[in-house]
Amino acid sequence: MPSLICPLCHTPLLQAKPSWLCQNGHSFDVARESYVNLLPVQHRRSLHPGDEDQALRARRRWLDAGHYAALRTALVEMIRDTQATSWVDIGCGEGYYTAAMGTLCPDLSGVDIAKTAVRMAAKRYPGITWLVASAARLPWPDASLEGASSLFAPLPEAELRRILRPGAYLIHAAANDRHLYELRSALFDEVRAHEPQRHLTPLLDDFDIEQSLHIETELDLTPSDLQDLIAMTPYAWAVSHERREALRARPGLTTRMSVQLSRLRRHDKPIPGEL
Ligand SMILES: [Zn+2]
Repeated sequence: MPSLICPLCHTPLLQAKPSWLCQNGHSFDVARESYVNLLPVQHRRSLHPGDEDQALRARRRWLDAGHYAALRTALVEMIRDTQATSWVDIGCGEGYYTAAMGTLCPDLSGVDIAKTAVRMAAKRYPGITWLVASAARLPWPDASLEGASSLFAPLPEAELRRILRPGAYLIHAAANDRHLYELRSALFDEVRAHEPQRHLTPLLDDFDIEQSLHIETELDLTPSDLQDLIAMTPYAWAVSHERREALRARPGLTTRMSVQLSRLRRHDKPIPGEL
């Protein structure tokens, strides 16, 4: 069990069933699937659009088909080297990558703001602490974790600086320019360039980039793979119906996964105020 704090008053959370409690009486129910929703009621979104469920199911089929397995393997190797014992995967989604880290870290948590995704993760992958929470308000005490990862998700800079100890690791995955280029060029007139390391720049005063791997595999997609890819790609909904339908009607598509996987390490210096 990780040591966690109440998202409302930041005092320690007593993790018991059926609810987690803090000393100020804030309480968070443990769901039947064994995840806990730590989003304070006032921050929750009241609607659950059906598209979200559909996109998640498409994403799970896509990941189960192994299209991104090379990334998962590289990620596991990268974490194994750190020998970190406490870790949070931020933006864990339906848990595909987090579950692969499960054998490496005894104290592993997956966090996502999407409750449906966390429920899917908890249902399939027991033995991991699954939490619905905002990346901007992570429920860990200061300097309490040895590692964090964010795969295709934003990096909450202030929270990462707060929860990671000196010497802790941060793993980040971001798309390269060639990532799904054929898909993007079929959808858009102009394909925007990705800058995979742009998000890391603001962290470089506290972190060093230790390792950066270019993971690339060719993807030969069947029509049903392509359907899933379109369904799980949020920006596909911003393009015209005609373009999307033309892409759906294709007999298949050859494209590639192209991802930059980086490992950073926090400088090993004491935290101000801690002696
Ligand atoms: Zn509280």
